[in-house]
Amino acid sequence: MALNNYYYYDEQSCEFVPVEYNSLERVVYTACVWILCGVVLAGIGISILSFSVGTPAEIALKAENQELINQLKQTKTRINNLDQQVDQLAQTDNEMYRSVLGMDKISYDERQAGAGGADVYSEFDVYSQETSEILKWTAENLETLERSINIQQLSFKEIKKYYNKNQQKMKHIPAIKPTKGIILSGFGMRYHPVLKYRRQHDGLDFRADIGSKIFATGDGTVKHAGLKGTFGRLLIIDHGYGYESYYAHLSSFAKGIKPGTKVKRGDLVGFSGASGMVEGPHLHYEVHKGGKAIDPLNYLFADTTPEEYMMYKDIVENNHRSMD
Ligand SMILES: [Zn+2]
Repeated sequence: MALNNYYYYDEQSCEFVPVEYNSLERVVYTACVWILCGVVLAGIGISILSFSVGTPAEIALKAENQELINQLKQTKTRINNLDQQVDQLAQTDNEMYRSVLGMDKISYDERQAGAGGADVYSEFDVYSQETSEILKWTAENLETLERSINIQQLSFKEIKKYYNKNQQKMKHIPAIKPTKGIILSGFGMRYHPVLKYRRQHDGLDFRADIGSKIFATGDGTVKHAGLKGTFGRLLIIDHGYGYESYYAHLSSFAKGIKPGTKVKRGDLVGFSGASGMVEGPHLHYEVHKGGKAIDPLNYLFADTTPEEYMMYKDIVENNHRSMD
């Protein structure tokens, strides 16, 4: 920018005379003008930027908020997973342990007791709708989860107490898988592969190649070890307390297994086969209580985790065909 010409009035000569600047004054003046312009332009620029994208502090806060919301969303997924696991425990607790031990079941409502109710989390209303909703959801569900876990812990304590008091009986109740293979078909109405119609299937079918080991599922006395109609080679163990277990379609019995033989849970009692009316080799396993066949799925509690129990349930509910 050029230095303007300024004039002063010379009283002696009575005329306007141009002001003379030396070169240093000119440089300083020019520099001052440029610095001033720079400061003004930078100020305008910062104002425009702050208005459109926010100050650095605002940008950092926004990023932090977004990260917190992401974390909350992940927490929500984890709470849902935990909730599912606690549900599985509750189902196993009711259907397996409590049902087998003859204890009262704990209803869903009892397990959820006290949860929810009045809007106790209205304090979160001050935040944005998305944040407020996710905070409320998290707080409510964590509280419910806490209650369910407490109830489950109390229930397990109660079951343990019952178990310790009834140890003799517990040794006799069928409580393990009779063979290592997976479950193929369950208890209830099933399509019979040989008869070609649906009828009551009184037990569980386990995958078992011919010669697979079969184990006694509880302490007891052998009641029957021989051929019996469509069961083929059948072993019946009397466990006392009204319980009996049936192992059908065997290829042979273990050494020493005959009526009157005393067996312990886990003893080898026979080998699987395909005798009797079957589609192929497998083990058909029944549990009877008071002379009536009951669902053996609930009598695998000593060597079945809640996850395995849910998996077996899924298999038997979705396979509508039996092996015999
Ligand atoms: Zn069967």
